[in-house]
Amino acid sequence: MLDLASLTELLDQPRKIVITTHHKPDGDAMGSSLGLYNYLIQQGHHAKVISPTDYPEFLTWMPGNEEVIIYTENTKLSATLIAEAEIIFCLDFNALGRINEMGVLVGESRAYKVMIDHHLEPEDFDDYRHWDINACAAAQLVYTFITEKLKHKELVNKDVATCLYTGIMTDSGSFRFPNTTATVHRIVADLIEAGANNSRIHELVYNSASENRLRFLGHCLANCLEIIPEYNTAIISVSKTDIAKFDVNTGDTEGIVNYALSIASVRLAAFIVERSDRVKLSLRSKGEFPANEICKKYFQGGGHRNAAGGQSEDTLEGTVNKFKQILPEYKTLLIQ
Ligand code: 5GP
Ligand code: MN
Repeated sequence: MLDLASLTELLDQPRKIVITTHHKPDGDAMGSSLGLYNYLIQQGHHAKVISPTDYPEFLTWMPGNEEVIIYTENTKLSATLIAEAEIIFCLDFNALGRINEMGVLVGESRAYKVMIDHHLEPEDFDDYRHWDINACAAAQLVYTFITEKLKHKELVNKDVATCLYTGIMTDSGSFRFPNTTATVHRIVADLIEAGANNSRIHELVYNSASENRLRFLGHCLANCLEIIPEYNTAIISVSKTDIAKFDVNTGDTEGIVNYALSIASVRLAAFIVERSDRVKLSLRSKGEFPANEICKKYFQGGGHRNAAGGQSEDTLEGTVNKFKQILPEYKTLLIQ
């Protein structure tokens, strides 16, 4: 284990540092990673962000993005950097399985591992932990790590602020989920003061879709949406053929599940998509309904109460049927 004093001392000298985050990174994963990166490089650290996989186009504009290494495209370099690192920051995940094969390399590395995360039930692979399930985003925790733990508020410059703003904005559903507290708004105000251009960031993330993505969304809503009124549940299921037909890229499916949840009566929404190697599920819920419990119990996944994910080795149809068969177990919660 590493206490804060030892970690602070360690960071007093330039170090070889790797920052990594969960596979198929979202706005919070990339925003928190690049926010921390832009902080660390000001101190002369040799820091590298390694993403286990590629990530959506609408996240590639953030400062420092050109320096990000994608593990699947640079396995050798990544392995060397991980093996030689003195500190590895693990952001927005807390189980090594979330970084695919990189998990083995990180587990084997002699580096100190620092976990900055807001998911339930962390695995015990870290040496120092800045963890709070009440945080709305890992980016919020990177902010408090820099300002409260390391006492370096003055190093939250425009680049750091821009990335952290993006993380908080995307993971809080644009500041609307219940965990977007007054404290979060104060942090966001600090980030804007530090140079984050809030309306420009919204434009870059939310108004940068391709025509294909919009037509695919239309297809999902018109042809793939099923409502199960007796369980207040909506399912959007999408086949491999549809994915090919609309030339769907990484990130194009993100957020579609929220349209299903926007129906007044719906308490649980599922987006179920047939990928090349497996079927992936994204669940969203309203109020107290534990979407993460379904993912953990039945779909080798997890997440937060209102936003969770998992997978299945079954066919698309088999997965949809399995999901439907689970609903009676949750009937009381779904119809209240
Ligand atoms: P999404 O539906 O956007 O893929 O994921 C929503 C949330 O669910 C993520 O922030 C993450 O916390 C969680 N999640 C998604 N997929 C998985 C998974 O396969 N395993 C675990 N443990 N959590 C997941
Ligand atoms: Mn997050």
